[in-house]
Amino acid sequence: MKDKTKITNRYNELIALIEEYNYHYYNLDKPLVDDSEYDRLMQELIDIEKKYPDVKSGSSPSQKVGGSASKTFSEAEHDPPMLSLGNVFTDSELIDFDERCRKNLAIKKNLAYCGELKFDGLAVEAIYEKGKFIKGSTRGNGFAGEDITANLATLKDLPLSLKGDIPSYLSIRGEVFLTHSEFERLNKLRESNSEPQFANPRNAAAGSLRQLNPEITAERDLKVNFYSIGKIEADRRINSQKDMFEYLSMLRIPVSDKIEYGDIEKMRKFYNYWIENRYNLDFDIDGIVIKIADFGYRDILGSTSKNPRWAAAWKFPAKEAITVLESVDFQVGRTGLVTPVANLHPINIGGVLVRRATLHNFNEIKRLDIRIGDSIKVKRAGDVIPKVTDVILDKRPADAKKITAPWKCPSCGSKLIPEEIYIRCINPECEAIKLETLKFFVSKNAMDIDAFGPELVLRLYNADIIKSISDIFKLKKDDLLKVERMGDKLADKILSAIEKRKAVPLSFFLRSLGIRNVGDHLAKVIAREVRGLKKLFEISKEDLSRIYEVGPEVADSVYSFFHNKNSINIINDILQSGVNVEDEIADGTDVDSIKNKNFVFTGSLTHLSRKEAEDLVEKYGGRALGSVSKKTDYLVAGGSPGTKYKKAMELDITIMTEEEFLSMLNER
Ligand code: NAD
Repeated sequence: MKDKTKITNRYNELIALIEEYNYHYYNLDKPLVDDSEYDRLMQELIDIEKKYPDVKSGSSPSQKVGGSASKTFSEAEHDPPMLSLGNVFTDSELIDFDERCRKNLAIKKNLAYCGELKFDGLAVEAIYEKGKFIKGSTRGNGFAGEDITANLATLKDLPLSLKGDIPSYLSIRGEVFLTHSEFERLNKLRESNSEPQFANPRNAAAGSLRQLNPEITAERDLKVNFYSIGKIEADRRINSQKDMFEYLSMLRIPVSDKIEYGDIEKMRKFYNYWIENRYNLDFDIDGIVIKIADFGYRDILGSTSKNPRWAAAWKFPAKEAITVLESVDFQVGRTGLVTPVANLHPINIGGVLVRRATLHNFNEIKRLDIRIGDSIKVKRAGDVIPKVTDVILDKRPADAKKITAPWKCPSCGSKLIPEEIYIRCINPECEAIKLETLKFFVSKNAMDIDAFGPELVLRLYNADIIKSISDIFKLKKDDLLKVERMGDKLADKILSAIEKRKAVPLSFFLRSLGIRNVGDHLAKVIAREVRGLKKLFEISKEDLSRIYEVGPEVADSVYSFFHNKNSINIINDILQSGVNVEDEIADGTDVDSIKNKNFVFTGSLTHLSRKEAEDLVEKYGGRALGSVSKKTDYLVAGGSPGTKYKKAMELDITIMTEEEFLSMLNER
C-alpha cells in the first residue's frame, strides 16, 4: 500500500513536471530542460502507466500532442488532427516496431518504408483552396493550433499559389526550421541589441514564426519542408508516400531532397548514414522518421490518440547533457599552449561515457562565467572533443569556486607567457611539449605510423626508450618488447611500419614537424612549390609568402622553424637516424584547370566516394572545401544535391556534374 502511494505520488509529480516543461517548450519557446531529460521523464511516466494501469490518468501528457493552446493567436482547427510520432531509440525497438506493423497487417514479407529526415523545428499546416494559400497554423494540441496565416505567408519557400494539376482543396503538414547560419545571424543581431539569445535553432524558429507582427517573421529567413497531406480533394489518387512527394513537388511545394525508400535494412542504413553526416547539414535534425510507404496499409493500421501506428521517429542519441564540473586541469599541448580541461561528473552522452570536456581558453571561462561545482551543459558534436556550452546559473552552489589561470607550467614549472587569449609554455625542454610532439609525429595526421598510438608513445617515453623523434627510427625489437602487453607480432608490425616511413615524401615530412599553421594541405602546397627539404632552409620569407595560399603568417612560421637552432637539430637527428626525405617530384600531377582552384562537392557521387573525389582534387593541386562561399570555384553536384547547390546558384558559381569533373582530370 505504501508502495502504491509512492508510485502515485511519483506519477503525479511526473505529470506536473512534464506539463510545466511542455508549457515552457511549446508556449514560451524557452525550454527549461534538455530534450533527453524530457524524454527520460516521459518514458518513466509511460513505464508507470504500463505497469500500473489503474494509476493512469485519462488526461496524462502521454496521451496528448504538444502543450496547451495559447491565447495569443486565434484558433485554427485541424481536420484530421495533427499527430505526434512514436519514438524508437534502439535497434531492438525498431525491430519491435517493424514486427508489430507486419503482425497487425497479417503479412510476412518485408514492408516497404519511406525514410525521411526528422527536422528539428516546428510543425505547421498550410491550407490551399483552388491553388491559393488561405490558412496557416501551428500544430498546437493536435486538434487546434494558432492561426499564423500572415506569418507563414512571409516564408520565401512557401508558394502562395500552386502550379500544375491544382487540387480544389489541399491541407499539407510540414516543419518550419532555421538554418545554422541564419540562427547565428539572428543571435548576433540580438546580442548587439542587448536582447536575450535564442537557446537553439528550434526555439528560434518557433519564436520567429509565432510573432504578433508578421514583419518580424519576414525579416528572418525561415525554411519549410512539407512531408504529409492532411486532406485533399482532387481528381487524382495518391497511393504512397512516393506518389505524394512527386505530386507536392509538381505543385511547387517544398519537400526534402533527402528521402530513402526501401525495406527496414535500408532504413537502418539511412539512419546510420545520417547519424554520421548530420553535422554536414546546415540545419538540425534530431533523428529520422520511418513511415510505411503504402497508404492502403496506413489506413488499416490507423492511429492512437497521439501517434500514427505506421510511422516512428528514430531519434539520434542526445548530443547534450547536464552534469557537474568537478575540477579543472591545465593541459600543455605540443605547441606549449595551455588548455583548461574540465573534469566532469561522468555522464552518458549519446551512448558514450564522458568524463572530460574542453574549455578552450581563459576567455571562454570568463565568457561562460564557469565555476567549480557548477551544473553545466556538455555537448558532443561529430568526432570533436566534448565541449562545455553553458552554465546553469540557477543551480550554482554557494561554495562554487572561481577558476584562476596558472602562471607556472603545470608540467615543467617554467613561467607561462600570456598571449592574446592563450597562455603558453615556451620551454623547449618541457616534458609535456616533448611528449605531445612525439604523439603527434606518429599520429594519423602526421607520419601515420601504423599501430603506433599515443599510449605506446607514453609507455616508451616513461621507460626512457624514446625521448626525441629520431629515437623512433632507432627503435629495436628488444626495446619494444620491454613494454607491457607487447607481443612478438605487434612489435614486428610496428617496426615494419616505421621502416616504411624511412623513405618519406617532403609533404608528409613537413606536415609531421608540427610547424605552426602548417597542416596537411599547406604542407602539400609548400612541398609542391619548394620541391626539396634542403631548399626549405634556403628560401626567403618573401619567396615563401609568394606561394599561392601561403600568406605572411604561414611564411613567417615556416621561415622561423627552418632557422631555429632547436628545430634544425631535430631535423638533422631525424635524417641521421636513417630517414630519407624525398623531393616532391614534379610528376606532372598538377592539372592546370584544377591547380589552385577551390572545389566543393554535394549530393551522392556515382563513380567515386566523396573522400576519393576530394583526394583527387588535392592530388592535382586544387583544394577541396566543405562549404560554398564566394571563394568556391566549382561545385561538383551528384544526385540529390543539398543546400550547397542553391547557395552556389545564388553566388553564380560554376556547377558541374561528376562526369564533367572526371573529364577535367583527364585533361592532364
Ligand atoms: P517529436 O518531435 O518527437 O516528433 C513529432 C514531430 O516531428 C512532428 O509533429 C513533426 O513536427 C516533426 N517532424 C519532423 N520531421 C518530420 C517528418 N519528416 N515527418 C513527420 N514528422 C516530422 O514529437 P513532438 O510531440 O513534436 O515533441 C515531443 C518532443 O519534443 C520530445 O520528445 C522532446 O524531445 C521535445 N520536447 C522537449 C521539451 C523540453 O522541455 N525540452 C518539452 C516538450 C517537448
